[in-house]
Amino acid sequence: MPLAPNRQQLDIAAERAKCTFDPSQLTPLFYGGEEKMKRLKKIEALVDSEPVFNRDDRYFLGRTERFKRALPMAKRYVELRNEHSLTPEESAYMKVYIDDYIPIHLHESMFLPVLRAQASEEQLKVWGPLAENYHYIGCYAQTELGHGSALGRLETTATFDVERDQWIINSPTQSSAKFWIGTLGKIANHAIVQAKLIINNKDYGAHPFLVPLRSLKDHTPLPGVVIKDQGPKQGAVSMDNGYARFNNVRIPRENMLMRFSQVSREGVYSKPIHPKLAYGGMTAVRTTLINHSALSMARAVTIATRYCAVRRQGTVDIKTDLETQVLDYPSVQSRILPLLSHSFATIFSGIWMTDMYAQYNADISKGDTSLLKDVHVYSSGLKSYCTKLGADGIEEARRCLGGHGFSLFSGMIDFHRQFLATVTYEGENALLTQQVSRYLLKLYKDVLRNPNMHLSPPSKYILSLFHENLFVHQKCEARSIRDLYRPEIVLAAFQHRAARLILELARAEKAGASWSDLNLECMRLSKAHVQYIMIENFHNGLEKHFNCHANPTVEQQNLLAAIRSVYDLHVFYTMETELSEFLEDGYFSPEQAAWVRQGFKNSLKAVRPNAVGFADCFGFTDSLLNSALGSWDGRAYERMAEMTEKEPLNGEPMTDKNGVVWGYEEYLKPLIYGKAGPYKARGDSKL
Ligand SMILES: Cc1cc2nc3c(=O)[nH]c(=O)nc-3n(C[C@H](O)[C@H](O)[C@H](O)COP(=O)(O)OP(=O)(O)OC[C@H]3O[C@@H](n4cnc5c(N)ncnc54)[C@H](O)[C@@H]3O)c2cc1C
Repeated sequence: MPLAPNRQQLDIAAERAKCTFDPSQLTPLFYGGEEKMKRLKKIEALVDSEPVFNRDDRYFLGRTERFKRALPMAKRYVELRNEHSLTPEESAYMKVYIDDYIPIHLHESMFLPVLRAQASEEQLKVWGPLAENYHYIGCYAQTELGHGSALGRLETTATFDVERDQWIINSPTQSSAKFWIGTLGKIANHAIVQAKLIINNKDYGAHPFLVPLRSLKDHTPLPGVVIKDQGPKQGAVSMDNGYARFNNVRIPRENMLMRFSQVSREGVYSKPIHPKLAYGGMTAVRTTLINHSALSMARAVTIATRYCAVRRQGTVDIKTDLETQVLDYPSVQSRILPLLSHSFATIFSGIWMTDMYAQYNADISKGDTSLLKDVHVYSSGLKSYCTKLGADGIEEARRCLGGHGFSLFSGMIDFHRQFLATVTYEGENALLTQQVSRYLLKLYKDVLRNPNMHLSPPSKYILSLFHENLFVHQKCEARSIRDLYRPEIVLAAFQHRAARLILELARAEKAGASWSDLNLECMRLSKAHVQYIMIENFHNGLEKHFNCHANPTVEQQNLLAAIRSVYDLHVFYTMETELSEFLEDGYFSPEQAAWVRQGFKNSLKAVRPNAVGFADCFGFTDSLLNSALGSWDGRAYERMAEMTEKEPLNGEPMTDKNGVVWGYEEYLKPLIYGKAGPYKARGDSKL
């Protein structure tokens, strides 16, 4: 006979019963459409059917064990990719779903994209097939021990030897050693090394070179190359981030990646048509990090929402004698539900950025670089904002789980530790805000010179600064809290705030402040601009994907109302968090500010009944979540106890058949039987 459902199962079933929409209608949005979802669900099933990817004991493994496990995983991944002729998109998703940072990861996520973007067509003809088939396993080696963000200060050199038609690669100092390079420590046999290009003592700045690292015969490091794994890290446990030094390593001239810059046989250097073209690979990775942020936030929301719906604690209902579901406390809602809204906001901006990047790629193949700056700046700004939103928000959601959130069994910790590095790599987040601000400042100066200039939609609002005397008197037009639900009022407010911060940055610069002195202004401005874009993209996304203007069915209306409540929550949360910036120049009145606070509270209430439905809509499998607390069936306590059973400390050899722990005879018994001597503290023993 099946067991009667327990309290937690009843609670989660009741949550699903009160949901006003069908969560499965939203799932394709997170997979990139219905057709793609079907294909990717097959990939999930494929991974789940392979024992090598089993996650049951993952939380118990140390660094060395995880690395050893990751090697067979990597091999099986490549075999499956080949056996099933997976598309690049399906292969990438397989790695996402395997959900461990397997050591070949950087080969596909960094080495190949940079190779494709920076190698010439002739070079790609030779290297492409070797790299695509893993004969060459590569890494991307830019960062050095002493130099990270400042690419211009890299010390590794590539000096041209015109007689032998070769580059000589050197790491002249300890600080010039490459460091943090994923896949380098133990696995890669090639690296794309960023090194200062030197011809006849003239330094042409950092350029990429394909440098062999290990023998293709027996994997031994090649002469002149010293490589090590760099040691333990906060996350990315299975990854061999590495350290390397080069001592007079010679490579052919043709090993410089020559799509944009070239060096001739005679040693003549030709520069790229646009200096930023060389960053193409990074832009692609930043774009994927926006989508990665959305899914990571959604994953945390799924676990936190489901668990907080079944966790009862505190205030007791006298009618039912049940404690309150912790998800009903506004203090818990205010920490989890905004993260839900950020997941949606981020997914829409991810779609927007991916489309823009595709357009840019199409243009660039025809020699049109007009989108380059927008793509570079918006991918930087969104990467910086969304990864921070995720890194901070996931931790906040984890804390909402109380003590159980501190257990790896919660499923919140392992993936978050890995995610945390995204705020640092592919452009350190705080630094990226300078690039966004510098660009906006330049557009502003251009507008002052030419108020009729063409601006792309996300920066059109800058035109309003041309009439500065009118701009500074702008006020929010909301006459009641209801007006704050109108997109045009909301977007105008975010545009005004971003424009004002541009003006302040320009004034501070004009007053003589150095660029370094303006770091805080840049962080503030970049955030304001990105928040505006995210809200606009969210709004446009709703219109495009969910607004059936003509004769919508009841289901369609319910779905739109539900997701619109999430949009409102995102708007009110963001406005409330940044309230001082809407108030300080008098754009918002104190009364309007009070409406914002009230709007935030109202939005939490509006989203709450559908919270578990939204958690379900992301479509995560229990296998991926690997969480005792956040599984679909709500059986949090049983699963917590079941996972405890698997703890190696609880089985042999650490605990014997009688339940006695290893080391009892040698270490504990002497203590218990007084063999460690009597205790008497020195001096005055009174407390
Ligand atoms: C898990 C992980 C994987 C990585 N993988 C790779 C890889 O495969 N290949 C690779 O080449 N690199 C890799 N990196 C390195 C990464 O790209 C760098 O860490 C990143 O670029 C930041 O550089 P940094 O560490 O030198 O920080 P720094 O540049 O030293 O920054 C330190 C602090 O100073 C601030 N700062 C620096 N310059 C300025 C300035 N001009 N104005 C204001 N503030 C400033 C920053 O905001 C930051 O807070 C990886 C890093 C991590 C953590």
